[in-house]
Amino acid sequence: MERQQEMPNRLDDRYRHTNTNRDMLEKGAILQRDGTYAIAPHLPGGIITDPDLLVKLAETAKKYKCPALKVTSSQRIALVGLKKEDVDAAWQDLGMKPGAAIGLCVRSVKFCPGTTFCKRGQQDSVGLGTKIDEKFHGMTLPSKFKVGISGCPNQCMDSMMIDFGAIGMPKGFKVYVGGNGGRKPRLGQLLAEELSSEQVFSLLDRVVQFYKDQAKTNERLGDFIDRTGFDNFKAAVLPEQNITH
Ligand code: SF4
Repeated sequence: MERQQEMPNRLDDRYRHTNTNRDMLEKGAILQRDGTYAIAPHLPGGIITDPDLLVKLAETAKKYKCPALKVTSSQRIALVGLKKEDVDAAWQDLGMKPGAAIGLCVRSVKFCPGTTFCKRGQQDSVGLGTKIDEKFHGMTLPSKFKVGISGCPNQCMDSMMIDFGAIGMPKGFKVYVGGNGGRKPRLGQLLAEELSSEQVFSLLDRVVQFYKDQAKTNERLGDFIDRTGFDNFKAAVLPEQNITH
């Protein structure tokens, strides 16, 4: 199965400095309070166009007697309460890849309905988010890294509170970098505006490469920008041409 081939069969670099004692990270299984496990398949954008996929999730949850299915903040649907001995079989039945919920990597690429479904959408967040998810989801990086693509300034994907966020505006996307939630919330800084989807994608590529090359282990993007200096960061990731900043 494709999932089986892509899942790491041992701890890889993404799992350095994470709690390897109890989560079964290599199986994408997260320990719960009661000693059972939760698994959350990769579900880009939380969008399901085939209702049979929902049926499969429900049937797998029923088969292994999961007491709950949980919609996560990363737009996934987690099967909660799996017994340890059922984790492999549940993944086998699902035939899906795990979402990168843990470890030092691109954890989630959230995107809103944008111009595909939402009446307020100003840019194609689904198209951009899907493309970003395909390339970057799960990529090993110095620390956890999240992406949020919103189709309009309402920012339903918390695009200013996330490592790399884009916001759809009438003339293109604004891009913010270095935001995060958690214990020390940090607002992202405006890096560029009036970008096409292609320009946002290229900019993310340069941000990721620079961050990957220069950041310390466990240094979140916002901290890296503070250490580097925002002007130096901008100079490194913004090409001369066609990007206003
Ligand atoms: S951010 Fe805007 S386009 Fe996206 S779901 Fe929210 S209101 Fe709709």
